[in-house]
Amino acid sequence: MTAAPRVFAKYEEIADGCEIDLSDNTNLWGPPPSVQGVLAACEPRDATRYPSAYSNHLKGAISRYTGFEQSMIVTGCGSDDVLDSAIRAFGNPGEVLAQLDPSFSMMRAFASVGGLSVTGVSPEADNLAEAFTESGARLTYLCSPNNPTGGVIPPEVIEAIVAAARGLVIIDEAYIEFGGVSSLGLLERYDNLLITRTLSKAFGLAGFRVGYGVGSPEVVRKVEGARGPYKVAWMSEQVAVAVLDNDVEWATQTAQEAIGNRRRLTAELRKLGCKPLESSANFVLVPVSDSSRVETGMRMRGIAVRRFVRLPGIGDAVRISIGPWPLMERCLDALREAVQ
Ligand SMILES: *Cc1c(COP(=O)(O)O)cnc(C)c1O
Repeated sequence: MTAAPRVFAKYEEIADGCEIDLSDNTNLWGPPPSVQGVLAACEPRDATRYPSAYSNHLKGAISRYTGFEQSMIVTGCGSDDVLDSAIRAFGNPGEVLAQLDPSFSMMRAFASVGGLSVTGVSPEADNLAEAFTESGARLTYLCSPNNPTGGVIPPEVIEAIVAAARGLVIIDEAYIEFGGVSSLGLLERYDNLLITRTLSKAFGLAGFRVGYGVGSPEVVRKVEGARGPYKVAWMSEQVAVAVLDNDVEWATQTAQEAIGNRRRLTAELRKLGCKPLESSANFVLVPVSDSSRVETGMRMRGIAVRRFVRLPGIGDAVRISIGPWPLMERCLDALREAVQ
């Protein structure tokens, strides 16, 4: 047997050889119920054909789920694809993208490929809306609940930022099923806005790579133009449609369990003397004095977590994904030994 190619070495190495992977916030309750039936019913002969250029079936399912018209929906190969396309559509070289610091690390990568510079805004700023406005950014990225901290930006602050922004505001709701208030309602009043979501987290479909954005028809047209055709694979579209049509209840239930376990894990971590950040997502960020040591120690005990080094305002930390409670107990055992 040959080893699988290491395409995303950074992520794969973390989980390598680990029995329990708590490093990437995917759904640890397993795949949604519809997946197996869809895969079994797939016609191999369709493999020779291209999928629909802009995933109209999937747009239909997202429209039924969100209540927005298809002209306000753009899909992508994961929401990463939608975020990347939005930056390419709305950002020009030399312009500035403003985001919280820390926030989702991929945005820095997308911005720098497009020749944009990134300005970090401290979540501790006295007036967050003003701090964003004063950055003079052409593009604003807000992630709420935020990765990696788990914190939310209050809805009135989000609205103030959108109202004052000079250009497009991207609101990343990858973790919205686990907490916080969705900004979808702002689309009634503002059109300089793109709200992105993913099926990789609460919906348990990270391997199929499906994400979407909701915005005004003009914004969506521009993002889709930068995205290009055929980005959602044939099987991914079929699976995503079935899951959005049939498994929302399943996703809601596992998300509820994640929220309960997040509270329980947070309490247990406090008993250990840790100071986990208050989280509204399916992970908690735990500041530690030396994240390399803790991550390695946990990996030796079969648990993969994501390590962060010198985060602004936080320092070293490890991020732990929330899963079924037996996994959390194993994690606590490993952490107890690793922080000693
Ligand atoms: C996981 C994650 C995504 C989703 O990525 P996909 O490409 O949809 O798998 C987007 N934003 C944030 C903040 C994330 O943590």
